[in-house]
Amino acid sequence: MRELKDLVRPNIWRLSPYSSARDEYSGHDAHVFLDANENPYNQPYNRYPDPLQRDVKKLVAKNKGVKPEQIFLGNGSDEAIDLVYRCFTRPQIDNVVAIEPTYGMYKVCADINDVEYRPVFLDDHFQMSAQKMLAACDRYTKVIWICSPNNPSGNLIDHDEIERVLEAFDGIVVIDEAYSDFSGKAAFRQEIDRYPHLIVLNTMSKAWGCAAIRMGMAFANEEIIKIFNKVKYPYNINQLTQDRAQELLRNPYEVQEWVNLLLQERSRMMVSFAMLPICKHVYPTDANFFLAKMTDAPAIYQYLMENGIIVRNRSRVKLCDNCLRITIGTKTENSQLLAALRQY
Ligand SMILES: *Cc1c(COP(=O)(O)O)cnc(C)c1O
Repeated sequence: MRELKDLVRPNIWRLSPYSSARDEYSGHDAHVFLDANENPYNQPYNRYPDPLQRDVKKLVAKNKGVKPEQIFLGNGSDEAIDLVYRCFTRPQIDNVVAIEPTYGMYKVCADINDVEYRPVFLDDHFQMSAQKMLAACDRYTKVIWICSPNNPSGNLIDHDEIERVLEAFDGIVVIDEAYSDFSGKAAFRQEIDRYPHLIVLNTMSKAWGCAAIRMGMAFANEEIIKIFNKVKYPYNINQLTQDRAQELLRNPYEVQEWVNLLLQERSRMMVSFAMLPICKHVYPTDANFFLAKMTDAPAIYQYLMENGIIVRNRSRVKLCDNCLRITIGTKTENSQLLAALRQY
């Protein structure tokens, strides 16, 4: 096993982070704040927010079954994805390995950070081979990206294959579980105590219905979280987001109701799609969307768009030719999509 020190970029390991006024004062019962050059008027938004989002993390910890010190909160998961590169990969030297096809941001962030990205194709059932992933690694491979349930295919990646990667790879393994609320399977975030180099991503953007507030989460061992905290912008989660996230986390029952409804609708949609003459295959899914192989995906996509219905055309993605990715909407929205397709 490489030590964390050997995985983190040397400049980041040595970095002394920006120390904000609010970092330096802590724990004391203060009531006069003349330290941060804020305006004393226009409460409550005149003050800088808590840079470590302690109140939000207490609720996230309870909800997700991890410790507050094992949580990083970001401006969407996208911030955590970018931070993985900025903390661990040296531009033009290191590389990362990822399943393919998958979520596009892993590659975009690699390109932005000038880091080599090595895609490893999934099989015809969109399953990963640990052996193939490991064979793509060399001593400059710092990170392996796995998305489960995977986007755009929708399926969970085989648990045993992921464990094989976790056991055999001595760098950072990121498992993006943006859709785990829909899968009904044990999540890998429960394994962060067993694997010190595992980072698990979650988001408020999908099951939690809050894509607009921009809050993503990374769960990992405390030492990794400390490194993320050192590199992130000091006030990366604004007060409005922290407030709204706390409201939601105090009332998770509604989320469960949404998930149940969406899962019911997902079954209905998949059965209905399978019966459409223009649909050749519906792929199994563990997320709030599914992939459907059509007779002519680009033409159907165009037709739907002309009828005011937008789905995702994935037909140019390898292994996804002639595929549309369908997000599950409300019952009414889903029925409108079906009605339009029956008219095609
Ligand atoms: C939608 C999605 C996210 C969410 O990103 P945010 O920046 O948190 O909105 C993350 N990962 C995957 C695989 C996704 O599909």
